[in-house]
Amino acid sequence: MNPEQVKPESIAAQALGWIDDKTRAITPPIHVSTTYLRDTDNQYRSGRVYARADNPAFDQAEAVIARLEHGAQAALFASGMAAATAVFQSLAPGDHVLAPKVMYWSLRNWLMNFATAWGLNVELIDMTDPLAVQAAIRPGKTRLVWVETPANPLWSITDIAATAAICRGAGARVAVDSTVATPVLTQPLLLGADIVMHAATKYLNGHSDLIAGVLVTRADDESWRRIKTIRAQLGATLGSFEAWLLLRGMRTLFLRVRAASSSAQRVADHFARHALVREVLYPGLAQAQGHAIAARQMHGGFGGMLSVCVRGGEAAAIATAANVALWKRATSLGGTESLLEHRASVEGAGTPAAPDLLRLSLGIEDCDDLIADLDQALHQALR
Ligand SMILES: *Cc1c(COP(=O)(O)O)cnc(C)c1O
Repeated sequence: MNPEQVKPESIAAQALGWIDDKTRAITPPIHVSTTYLRDTDNQYRSGRVYARADNPAFDQAEAVIARLEHGAQAALFASGMAAATAVFQSLAPGDHVLAPKVMYWSLRNWLMNFATAWGLNVELIDMTDPLAVQAAIRPGKTRLVWVETPANPLWSITDIAATAAICRGAGARVAVDSTVATPVLTQPLLLGADIVMHAATKYLNGHSDLIAGVLVTRADDESWRRIKTIRAQLGATLGSFEAWLLLRGMRTLFLRVRAASSSAQRVADHFARHALVREVLYPGLAQAQGHAIAARQMHGGFGGMLSVCVRGGEAAAIATAANVALWKRATSLGGTESLLEHRASVEGAGTPAAPDLLRLSLGIEDCDDLIADLDQALHQALR
């Protein structure tokens, strides 16, 4: 079989089918050395010097992710935040960047505080509206446009292909935080993006037991080399054991993401017509913002994340969260266990999350159990 034709499901399941040369092991060994032997003639022919810059423990996981995203190369980072901030730090003070008003909260905070103080000219816009992108982009001045789709915590959809076309015309690069879509559902590089970022903490690993991030580049270019240098110099390096765990987690990526997506669709359909629910935010609902774009851009599901706005306001939402038994009240997403949280409490002032909004991350439990549990929690809360 031509290895180029192997389907992504097979690539993930076998972690690219690599076999350890020395032992014939099917799962890779864990390399923990921080340093590498120099040759007698004072060279480093192995290409490895010191593990802050590079680590053989990364090779297989990076190769798998690069293949799944159709990129030239991938680079693991110590967290999703470390990966995302490396992209911005590869720019120069004074550069203009566009980012969405609705996006992952910690990154938005970092952009508004650290990145701005460091000299980046960060402008937040409605990234879901191509006309707003067209109006805000400054040809020759805007270096980077950051997209997140579906975007936390409203799951709004940005048309990657349309945005990338506008950016290409203006000489700006496009980076996509595709954490929620995962390479199972969306391939941003095929739609014209230059960089894809994942909080591998979430679906890629999928078991709520490690913090990791990854970037994938369309081209091994000057900008990518700057990003790799930042990883090595700032030391935002993943540990060897975490890289190994991530590779293990990714073997079940397709099964987990498809199960979570199909459950999210069922939960969204059920609670969208529920008497105790004001609104459900999920791109898989026909009435959702961006549904038609999502149907084109996402393949095989709309993702495992949705938000439910509870009738009765903030107190009712918090009381609903207090009354769940199977769902876990916790932040984060993309694990095997379903999580829910009152998002406005996490994000504080300036959040786009309504006070009655509960953010739901679907796991892989029995979906009827999840629906029944949330149903009884709503009834308890609003009794
Ligand atoms: C969690 C998350 C991040 C940050 O990842 P960490 O691994 O927690 O640093 C970035 N973007 C999105 C969409 C996330 O969900």
